Amino acid sequence: MATFSIRFLGCKVSHTDAHDVRERLLGDGHLERPAELGADVAVVNTCCVTNEAVRKSRQAATRAARTHRRVYLTGCAANLAADAFAGLPENVTVVARRSEETPGFVAGDVGALGCVQADARLDRVRAFVKIQDGCSFSCNFCVIPLVRGASRSRSARAVLDEVRRRVEQGHREIVLTGINLGCYRDREARYKLPRLVREVGAVPGLDRLRLSSIEVNHVDGELVAALRETPAVSRHLHVPLQSGDDGVLRDMARRYSSSTYLRRLESLEDFNLTTDAIVGFPTETEAAFERTLTVIDAAGITKVHVFPYSPRPGTVTAARDSVPPAVKKERSARLRAASDAACLARWHEKVGADDVVLVDRPGRGYGDDYSPWLVDAPVGELVRVRGAAVSEEGILAA
Ligand code: SF4
Repeated sequence: MATFSIRFLGCKVSHTDAHDVRERLLGDGHLERPAELGADVAVVNTCCVTNEAVRKSRQAATRAARTHRRVYLTGCAANLAADAFAGLPENVTVVARRSEETPGFVAGDVGALGCVQADARLDRVRAFVKIQDGCSFSCNFCVIPLVRGASRSRSARAVLDEVRRRVEQGHREIVLTGINLGCYRDREARYKLPRLVREVGAVPGLDRLRLSSIEVNHVDGELVAALRETPAVSRHLHVPLQSGDDGVLRDMARRYSSSTYLRRLESLEDFNLTTDAIVGFPTETEAAFERTLTVIDAAGITKVHVFPYSPRPGTVTAARDSVPPAVKKERSARLRAASDAACLARWHEKVGADDVVLVDRPGRGYGDDYSPWLVDAPVGELVRVRGAAVSEEGILAA
């Protein structure tokens, strides 16, 4: 038996990848320990979405190499065809493999023992279930299709089995994750995302269901109907915008205009909408940036994940980075300030209103639309609340 620690950097797909490796190691009889205590093995699931993410991944690997005998670097940055991890200590292994192959590779290298570990949960309340991986779009700035490959989907049966298992383990919320969820297809069993949402949402015992993210072109009538007609679905949707300027969107090779983005979200006016935006793309002028602020405001977005543009190797815009760092920093700060203000405004709307909160940590939880609440109730409980006031961290329950 080996002891191991595991961490991930980046998005929810990275989280589920780390989870898969963890489950496999636990299933093989290895024992998890907190990273700060040190262990035989560390698994660091890396991210490469920006230069900064790669730098942090490298830093995490260096740190782990000091306190673990072996370190496995997995995930997106490990698959980036660059020397991002050159010169790391000898006990670090870079696992440049697809996510489906990674748990088996790491487990095989660590050495399976075959005894069964009963509790294979990462998070008691919420579980992330991957339904799809890879992306067949080719946005000009994005390295993900290069490191994760083309879109492919799990069978609906495998997804539904995993959801049932997670619910039996005690998870009350399921988040369906993937790189490009709207591309989900189980052709043999005739499933697309809307049907999968309906059937996952009908799993007995499941209280909440969310999508991690969806491209706006996939937000069509069929999906909106499935979201609205499935009682377990939370009123929250994360829809990447990237830019509100049509010229920049074209240069990014996104597949929509700002007006399409706004039109497709019109029918979700009661949902809490969040987004991603890239700041400082090479053709982003000041006026173009301001159009991003305008579209975010018009769409009613309450939270923006801001990514200062950094060129990624192998992409169409790999050699382009003309917006000065100081300008990117200033625009990022303005966008974050707008996001904070919109978020606070939504929280204030909840004062005096009722909601149902799923408590996922001591003293905290999320309402139906994924707004954060501060509430005094046991972890894992769904509680009825009324908004009393707003603090910096969320809505205070009366
Ligand atoms: S849709 Fe575009 S940004 Fe998203 S993963 Fe695919 S290529 Fe990257």
